[in-house]
Amino acid sequence: MMPLEFWNHPLCGLIIFGLGACLGSFFNVCIIRIPKNISIIFPRSRCDCGRPIPFFYNIPIISWILLGGRARCCGRKLELQYIFSEILTAILFLLLWQRSDPWEFLVYGIFFGLLIVASGIDWVTMTIPDFCTVGGAILGILGGVFLAHFSSGNYIFCGGIASIRGMLLGSSILLWIAVFAEFVLNKEAIGFGDVKLMGCIGAFLGTRGAIFSIFGGTCLGMVTLLPIWWLCNRRKNEVKFGSSLPFGPFLALGAVSYLLFFKTIIDEYFSHLEILLG
Ligand SMILES: [Zn+2]
Repeated sequence: MMPLEFWNHPLCGLIIFGLGACLGSFFNVCIIRIPKNISIIFPRSRCDCGRPIPFFYNIPIISWILLGGRARCCGRKLELQYIFSEILTAILFLLLWQRSDPWEFLVYGIFFGLLIVASGIDWVTMTIPDFCTVGGAILGILGGVFLAHFSSGNYIFCGGIASIRGMLLGSSILLWIAVFAEFVLNKEAIGFGDVKLMGCIGAFLGTRGAIFSIFGGTCLGMVTLLPIWWLCNRRKNEVKFGSSLPFGPFLALGAVSYLLFFKTIIDEYFSHLEILLG
């Protein structure tokens, strides 16, 4: 096992940042290719003009900066999505590394990867593939069991049962919100993909994190994701009141911010609540 002195060394943080950037690049490939049913391994990266991109122009973040955001072969502007997913993943991994031991980093790093891919695909296609949600829920339960045995417990996760409780509670709360919303609005308001994603989030975070992801994620998303979504889609005429929003990124934002920023205060709040409820 890696000595813990090295895990806490700033150099390790730099490696984690680089790892995050490389994985962010891979996640972006997943987001683009999975909805089109193209293999995520072959063919190798290609420019939109069809020419293959040599590896030395394909280094995350650095290549973007050196090339000024343009393709080397034909000069076309590269989509912002590339650098965005690289920087986002790198920063999230760095923040996670600061707060976790190696075992927690492994489990929650996988969780972050699932959330980024699920959110990206939901943002573009308004659907979330089952391997992120159902597969993610299974990984979340395994992760709960794993952390209960190996982790020193910064996040104090209490194992597989807590994961299953989180999965069931998280998905059922969102399912009932969806049922009520459909009853009132007389149309589908929240898709079943979001309900399954919520099961995955609950499996990784437990009941408290699941509840925060739904309500905290919605509140945080309204002030951060909604304006971005509007900017991205304003050219389309159909953007108006009542347009469909991808809800997956809201839930993912709630989950990530719970784990990185709000866990202590939210858990304390819930422990008071449980005393009150007897
Ligand atoms: Zn090109």
